[in-house]
Amino acid sequence: MKFLDEAKIFLKAGNGGSGCSSFRREKYVEFGGPNGGDGGNGANIYFKAVNNLNTLIDYRYKQHFKGENGRNGKGDNKKGSDGSDLFLKVPLGTQILDFDKKNVLKDFTVSDEKFLFLKGGIGGRGNSRFKSSTNRAPRRFELGKKGEERWVWLKLKLIADVGIIGLPNVGKSSLLSKLSNARPRISNYAFTTLKPQLGLLRKEYSDLVIADLPGLIKGASEGIGLGHKFLSHVERCRIILHVCDISLEEDTILNNYNMIRKELEKYGIKNKKEILIFNKSDLVSKAKIGRINKNQLIQEKKFFFVISCINGSGVNDVVDYLFEFFFNNIDEKKI
Ligand code: GDP
Ligand code: MG
Repeated sequence: MKFLDEAKIFLKAGNGGSGCSSFRREKYVEFGGPNGGDGGNGANIYFKAVNNLNTLIDYRYKQHFKGENGRNGKGDNKKGSDGSDLFLKVPLGTQILDFDKKNVLKDFTVSDEKFLFLKGGIGGRGNSRFKSSTNRAPRRFELGKKGEERWVWLKLKLIADVGIIGLPNVGKSSLLSKLSNARPRISNYAFTTLKPQLGLLRKEYSDLVIADLPGLIKGASEGIGLGHKFLSHVERCRIILHVCDISLEEDTILNNYNMIRKELEKYGIKNKKEILIFNKSDLVSKAKIGRINKNQLIQEKKFFFVISCINGSGVNDVVDYLFEFFFNNIDEKKI
C-alpha cells in the first residue's frame, strides 16, 4: 500500500451573487416600487474526517477546489440561489496547516467531524432593500462579497494502532508483512523503506492498523534523515514494537536499542507502551537466546518476544498479545 502523507492545495469558497436593481412594471401602475432581489451566498468549504480513507492521494491529482458562486438576484424580489457547500473528505488523522507549514489550523481526531474552513461570500442586497421613506425608488444595490481563499497543506499523521520501529535492516518490513496484508519491499539494504507502510492485521472480526515506521537513525530527533517525519508518526501509535536483530553482538543490540530510545525521548516520546521484539532467532543458538532473556534491560522491560520472520516462530504470540492488549485490555504480560 502506497502511503502519501502530504499535499498542497488551493481552496476558494464561492463568491456571493450580486443584488439586483429593478422596478416593478405593471400595466396601469405608475411608479411601481423597487423589486430587485438579493444575491445568493457563495458556497462554504468544509472538511470532513472519514474513516474509510487512509491516504491523501486524491489531493495529488486535483489541487484546486472552488466552491460554487451564489447566483445574482433577480427582479420580482427573487433571491439568487446559494452555491451548494463543498465538503472535502480527508482521512481521520489529517492536519490542515497554513501555506508555510508553521501553524496547524485544524487537527482531525474525531471520525465524521465536519469543520467549516472557508466561508463563501455573502450575497449583495438588491435595490428593494434600500427603499425608505425618503428614497422610494433607490437604484442602489450591492455586489456580492468575495469568497475566502487560501493555500494550505494537508498532512496525514498515521493513526496506526501499532508502530514498528528499529534500526534499518532489523526486519521491520518483514515483520509487517508477517503480521498483515501489506507487502512491503524487503531487502538486505539499510534504507529500503522510505515511507511509512501500513498494513491491516485481522483476526475474526477485529482489525488493527500496523505501520512500519522506518528511518529512525541517530540524530533523527534533530531532523537527520527523514527523522522528524517518522517520529511524528510514532507519536500517535498506541503501542510500539521495537525490533532488534538478535543475531548481532549483545552489546551492539543494547547500544542500538538505547540509541533509538534516546531519539524517541529527545523528541518527547517517553511513556509510550513498548514491546521488545528480538528478530532473526533462526540465526542464533538457544544459549544466546537464554543469555538475552537474562539481560538486565530485558528483565526491566518485562515483556518481549523472540521471533523469526523467516521461519515464523514466535510471530503468532505477538499477534495474540496485540489482540489481548487492544481488545481485552490486558496490559501486562510476564514471560
Ligand atoms: P527493515 O530494514 O528493518 O525493514 O528490514 P527488512 O525487513 O527489509 O529485512 C532486512 C533483511 O533481514 C532482509 O534481508 C530480510 O530477509 C532479513 N530478515 C528479516 N527477518 C529475518 C529473520 O527472522 N531471519 C533472518 N535470517 N533474516 C531476516
Ligand atoms: Mg524496511
